Amino acid sequence: MTIRTFLVENGLYQPIDASFLLDQVEDGRITFDAYCPECKSSSTFKRTIAEVKDRVVPISLAGNSPTSRSKRVAGFMPVTMICSRTVAHIIRFEVELSNGKLVKYGQSPSYADILIGSLGTDLKELDKPAQRELVKALRLYSSDAAIGGFVYLRRIFENLISRTKIAHEAEHGLIDGYDALRMKGRIQVLAPSLPALVAENAAVWDILSAGVHELAEADCRRYFPFVQSAIAQILEREAHIRRAREQADTTRKALQAILSEVNGVASPPHDADD
Ligand SMILES: [Zn+2]
Repeated sequence: MTIRTFLVENGLYQPIDASFLLDQVEDGRITFDAYCPECKSSSTFKRTIAEVKDRVVPISLAGNSPTSRSKRVAGFMPVTMICSRTVAHIIRFEVELSNGKLVKYGQSPSYADILIGSLGTDLKELDKPAQRELVKALRLYSSDAAIGGFVYLRRIFENLISRTKIAHEAEHGLIDGYDALRMKGRIQVLAPSLPALVAENAAVWDILSAGVHELAEADCRRYFPFVQSAIAQILEREAHIRRAREQADTTRKALQAILSEVNGVASPPHDADD
């Protein structure tokens, strides 16, 4: 586990046997990349110098010598990370060392807010109910409820596949036996209308056909970022197609306007008088 995973991505209140991170959490220099919800883009965060040099020595049950870190078994440790673009952009963490284990019991902004912010315009490409579901999915996933989050994410993905099917059939004709197919099969037949990442990894999508009782927390945690990225790519593809249509529409209207102008000049009503 990296310091970034522990601080940014791990859920709250879970004791982690991560004594190898203790020195870093306690007063070490920390740098990591993360999405900055204020900058609205990825940024590098660095720990405040004050914490690195002058931090309050944690309460120690095994002697207060600042040099006897290995003997420390308890203490509260704030970690304040500052965005390299603007010092006012801060991510705060509160970490406790308890019985040799590290527990994160505070984080602001939350991992869910960082994830939701990182979606940017992708989120707006979804209809309102799907936007709410995606936010729920991210909040559950970031709170160590990966199965719950994954179920919401799966619903959004399935709806996008249904939308793709309607667009695909409008262009290529009806697909026989579509309803009987599992997700993997559906993705295979819709491949020409899906982003490469989705179409090329059809085997992964079998997990999307599994019943809720068959899902394992670890599998859902592993697949969640992949499904989230697939949703983003489908939305980007849809947005790209829509923009291309709008552009074609604008060009056609401009051409029509020019043509009617040219026709109007070629045969104005008063021509006969000349
Ligand atoms: Zn920032």
